Amino acid sequence: MSARSNLFALDQAGLRAFFVRLGETPFRATQLMKWVYHHGITDFAQMTNFSKALRAQLPGIAHFALPEIIAEQRSQDGTCKWLLRVDGQNCIETVFIPETGRGTLCISSQVGCALNCRFCATGRQGFSRNLSVAEIIGQVWLANERLGYFRQRQRIISNVVLMGMGEPLLNFDNVVTAIALMRDDFGFGLSARRITLSTAGLVPAMDKLSKASKVSLAVSLHAANDALRDVLVPLNRRYSLKALLAACRRYAEAQGGAAITFEYTMLAGVNDSLEDARRLAELLRPLPAKINLIPFNPFPDSGYTRPSQSAIDQFRETLLNAGLMTMTRKTRGDDIDAACGQLVGEVAPRAKRLERRG
Ligand code: SAH
Repeated sequence: MSARSNLFALDQAGLRAFFVRLGETPFRATQLMKWVYHHGITDFAQMTNFSKALRAQLPGIAHFALPEIIAEQRSQDGTCKWLLRVDGQNCIETVFIPETGRGTLCISSQVGCALNCRFCATGRQGFSRNLSVAEIIGQVWLANERLGYFRQRQRIISNVVLMGMGEPLLNFDNVVTAIALMRDDFGFGLSARRITLSTAGLVPAMDKLSKASKVSLAVSLHAANDALRDVLVPLNRRYSLKALLAACRRYAEAQGGAAITFEYTMLAGVNDSLEDARRLAELLRPLPAKINLIPFNPFPDSGYTRPSQSAIDQFRETLLNAGLMTMTRKTRGDDIDAACGQLVGEVAPRAKRLERRG
């Protein structure tokens, strides 16, 4: 086992402590971060503002270890997907989605997922393990590197969404530290508005998050009544819609009234009736809410289908008429299985799924 510290695992506070332990000034932390996160340099020998002695000492005690890129696929629409090996048994996926005026990176927080939402390909695979801080921030670093950011110094990734594989709030500490690195001006310098954490609705962790970090919140709703949500999102059996929406209100208030995005994957004949839309509007009207309709992305043996375009449009109209800001998420990268809910990586499941446990 290597005794060297992986410096991708440390945020600014952690790096300061690291340098202080070496008898160096804590100021080395931000110098190092500029090399790594602004210039893409992880070779200590090139860190010319460090003394020769420090440059010689560091490789023996520290390194920068990243997931390994196994495959890089580019979709016809410019979406880019990477398959990353994180250990001998497991791979995760990361997706970049270019749009006019912005570029969004969708990152994973766990290998697999324990929540087993019925219509999600990741959930079908079971859960293997949490990703480390280095594996989470490493996805952002690698994507920046591959997209040419460090060479051009022009921002390509303007937004990061934790909407890839896994439930970020079940990997709380590592996710919060990685977000700190994304937000830090010496890190990737992204504002809280440009980082979105998506959760299936882990109520206690939502409250904890609003104290521990500053980040935009998205909530995977998918149903406007408990009976249906119990089936689609088994976590609802623990935290009902009422408890979830109360937590959303507390989160929005703690963040100064910032809107929460509600994701609603549209499943034909399951949750796409106009009655569903009206009930959804009633539930969300009291909140600072934006609704993101996600047309279902199929995968083998899912048992679900996508509603027709006109059904999706009418659903959206109903919400708009009720005064709710509603967008339909464009399906991107589906020719390379990079669309929402299609990320699978390679997962060696260890734990049983939530549903079977409870
Ligand atoms: N576990 C977190 C993060 C995943 S975000 C969460 O649930 O929010 C991924 C989003 O895509 C979630 O809203 C998820 O419900 C949705 N999704 C999953 N499978 C999908 C599919 N096959 N088609 C469309 N959306 C899907």
